[in-house]
Amino acid sequence: MSTPKSEPIASPSTATAADPRPSDFIRDIVTKHVAEGKYPQIHSRFPPEPNGYLHIGHAKSICLNFGIAREFGGVCNLRMDDTNPTKEEVEYVDSITADVKWLIDGWADDRLGLKPKGKSPETSTVNGKPDFYLPPVTKTSTNVESFYASDYFDQIYEYAVQLTKRGLAYVDDLSAEDTDKYRGAPDRPGKESPFRNRSIEENLDLFTRMKNGEFPDGARTLRAKIDMSSPNIWLRDPVLYRIRHAEHHHTGNKWCIYPLYDFAHCLSDYIEGITHSICTLEFEVHRPLYDWILENLNLPRPLPHQYEFAKLIPSYMIVSKRKLIQLVNEKIVSGWDDPRLPTISGIRRRGVTAEAVRAFAYHIGVTKYVSMTDIAVFEHAIREDLNKRSLRRLAVLRPIKVVITNYPDGKVEELDAVNNPEDPAAGTRKIPFARELYIDHDDFMETPPPKYFRLRPGGEVRLKYAYIIKCNQVIKDANGKITELHCTADLDSKTGGATAGRKVKGTIHWVSAAHALDAEVRLYDRLFTAPEPDADGDFKKHLNPHSLEIVTAKCEPSLKEAKSDRRYQFERLAYFALDKDSTPEKLVFNRTITLKDTWAKESQKT
Ligand code: ATP
Ligand code: MG
Repeated sequence: MSTPKSEPIASPSTATAADPRPSDFIRDIVTKHVAEGKYPQIHSRFPPEPNGYLHIGHAKSICLNFGIAREFGGVCNLRMDDTNPTKEEVEYVDSITADVKWLIDGWADDRLGLKPKGKSPETSTVNGKPDFYLPPVTKTSTNVESFYASDYFDQIYEYAVQLTKRGLAYVDDLSAEDTDKYRGAPDRPGKESPFRNRSIEENLDLFTRMKNGEFPDGARTLRAKIDMSSPNIWLRDPVLYRIRHAEHHHTGNKWCIYPLYDFAHCLSDYIEGITHSICTLEFEVHRPLYDWILENLNLPRPLPHQYEFAKLIPSYMIVSKRKLIQLVNEKIVSGWDDPRLPTISGIRRRGVTAEAVRAFAYHIGVTKYVSMTDIAVFEHAIREDLNKRSLRRLAVLRPIKVVITNYPDGKVEELDAVNNPEDPAAGTRKIPFARELYIDHDDFMETPPPKYFRLRPGGEVRLKYAYIIKCNQVIKDANGKITELHCTADLDSKTGGATAGRKVKGTIHWVSAAHALDAEVRLYDRLFTAPEPDADGDFKKHLNPHSLEIVTAKCEPSLKEAKSDRRYQFERLAYFALDKDSTPEKLVFNRTITLKDTWAKESQKT
C-alpha cells in the first residue's frame, strides 16, 4: 500500500459509560493491531451486493464494521459489491445507501468512507520494476457516497493481466458444465483442463479478445492456475472472469467480461486500503484464495486480511434476499418496506429506531458459533428504546361507546395527562373529558371470568387521568350486539377530589367521543408462526394469517399533531409510529410492537 507507515492515529478506546464499547474476538484483534501500530489507520468496509434490500442480518454487519471504525478512530467504506450485471439494479443501490445512512446517522456517519471524485487509476513501480497497483482510496471529500467495486473494473482487469503475464492465470474454453465436472469433489481431486497450459501470449491474446467482445457468453473464462488437487475446492483453478454481454447499472455497456466475487473482493479491499475485511463464516473457505490473489500480485504490504463471524439468524424471520424477493414478487407483502419484513426499510417503516437496531446488534455480540437468535431479544431492544422515547397517548382500537349518565351534556373538562413518565421533561398535555366516551371492547366483559378487573356490569374502573365509573346498563341492538354502556361517574374521584384516593382494581383508557380523531391503525404481528420458518424448506406454509389487521381507531385530539419522527405509546396497548401513507386528512399508524411479549405467553400455554 502506498500509504506511508506513520504513527497510529487510531485512538485505543472511545468507550464511555453511556456508550460502552462492546468486546468480541474481532475487536480484540483490532485492539491488538492498534496497540502494535500495525496500520496507520483501521479501515473496514461493508460490501453489500445490490441484488436486494438490506435486512436485519446486514444491520449486524453494518454495526460491526462501522462500529469498529467508530471505536478505533478508523474509517468504514460502504461498497457496492456489484460484479454481477444481471441481478443488480439501481433501486437496490439507492435503498442500500438510504438504509446504511439511516442506521449509522449521527452515530458513525463521520466515519463513512468517502469517495474521491474523478480519480483515475494510477500505475506505479514495485521493487523498482513497473507494475500495476492503485494506492488506497482515501477520504477526500465531505460527500457521503458509496464506493463501487465496478469503479475498479479497469484496475481489476489490469491485475488479471498481471496474473496472466506471470503464468498464474489462463483462458479456459471448457463449458460451465465441464468446469464443474473437472473440479472434482472435496474427497476427490479435480482434473486439469486441456487448455491449462496455453502459452502466456495466447492467454493474453484470448483474454484481450474476451474483453473486446469477440466471444459469446460462456464461451471462455479466465481462471487462476493454482492446484486442481487442492483439498480446498476454491483453490482448484477458480474462475476469475466470465463473459456476460449485459448492461451494468453502474458501468453501462463498457464491459462484457465481469470479475467474479472472489477476484473482485480482495482487490477492491486492497484498492481501498482496507485493513480488516470482515465477513460471515461461509467465506472462511474462500480466505486462502483471497490471500493467494493478493500475494501472487506481489502488492506492497500491508495487505488486507479477512476475518469471519457467524451470521445473525433470527427466529421467526427469513433473512435471505432470495426468499425475501419471493415474498415481494408474489405480493405476499406490500413491498420491500412492508413493516412485517426484516428488511431495514421494513423495520424503519414499522417504527423501530436506528438506536434500537444498534443496541440489539451490540447486545447479541459477535462470535464464530452458528446459532439462532431469539427474536424476543430484538423485540426487547425495541421495547426498551420505545419506552424511553415514546409520548403516551390515549387511543381506542375497537371502540365501544360509554355514556356517563350523571355528567352534564355539553360540559367539557380539560384534564392533565402525563406525556412520558420516563421523561419528566416531556411535560403534560390536556385531554378533553365529556359525557360520551369510547373505551376499548377488550376492556368490557358482560360475564367476566374471576380476577377480571376491567369494566363489567355493576363493576367499577378508573378512567385513566379521570373519574371512577360504574357500569349500570348494557344497551344492545336487535342482534344482541352491544352498542352502548351506560355508566355513572364518581364525580369526586378525579385528581384533587374528595375520593381521588379511592382504590379500584382496574384502570382503563378512553377518549371523548365528540373530540376523537379517526385513524387507520395497522396492527402488525410476526410474519411467520414458526420459529424456523424455512426448517422444512417451505417457509410460505408458516405465514401468520394474522400478521396484519387494520382497524379504525378513535384517538385523543392531540394526535392530530403527530410527527413521523416521534414515537407514541397508546397507553395500555402498544407502541406506534406514523406510516408513510399518513396524511393530515387521514392519519395512519403502524403498530411497531405490543407492550408485552404476547408470543411468550402463547408458547407457555402449549
Ligand atoms: P443473503 O444471504 O441475505 O442473500 P448475502 O450474504 O448474499 O445476503 P451480501 O450483500 O453479500 O448479502 O452481504 C453483505 C455483507 O453482509 C456481507 O459481508 C455478508 O457477510 C453480511 N451479511 C449477510 N447476511 C448476514 C447476516 N445474516 N448476518 C450478518 N451479516 C450478514
Ligand atoms: Mg453475498
